[in-house]
Amino acid sequence: MIQLRTSSVEATRALAAALAELVRGGDLIVLAGDLGAGKTAFAQGLGQALGIDEPITSPTFTLARQYEGGRLRLHHLDVYRFDVTAEVLDVGLAELLDDVDAVTVIEWGDVIRQALPHDLLEVRITLGEGDDDRDIELHLIGGWAARRRALGAALRSWTVDDQTGAAPTDGSQGGPVGC
Ligand code: ADP
Ligand code: MG
Repeated sequence: MIQLRTSSVEATRALAAALAELVRGGDLIVLAGDLGAGKTAFAQGLGQALGIDEPITSPTFTLARQYEGGRLRLHHLDVYRFDVTAEVLDVGLAELLDDVDAVTVIEWGDVIRQALPHDLLEVRITLGEGDDDRDIELHLIGGWAARRRALGAALRSWTVDDQTGAAPTDGSQGGPVGC
């Protein structure tokens, strides 16, 4: 797990943009978190960084939207409010996931994990202390685990500082204490 934190919607978009550099065709990203957590903001940052010019809007009432024009296509789904398994299978989830020139991002996708492939990145966004603070956990599942080091490096700016005395998980961080 990679623990991150942002303090503005722009920072969440920037974090997602940094992650976009590491995204490959066929990838599946699940966004978990309550309404207003920032799932759509995350999808916007990711899509913009892929080079999609079209504004990425919340797909809540459409279930699935497709955006072209970027380095990869973006399939953006929001499965909130749906009788999911049936409807998601109806929109051809399997075909979307087979699209090797696309990344698929599913808001509330944690709810339909049983209908999803094993390999995925789960992004869990929760409200932090301040109004604009968000705690963002990345769970690297299956093949995503191989990208831990690259993700850690790309997302270093948002990594939660180790203020608890717990050892860093990805190597030594010794040396003098600085700011
Ligand atoms: P969701 O898709 O999870 O329902 P949205 O992305 O649509 O959430 O909305 C998130 C809301 O929270 C936006 O109004 C955004 O401006 C606000 N916000 C405030 N701080 C943050 C932050 N750090 N990250 C993401 N969104 C934030
Ligand atoms: Mg949303």
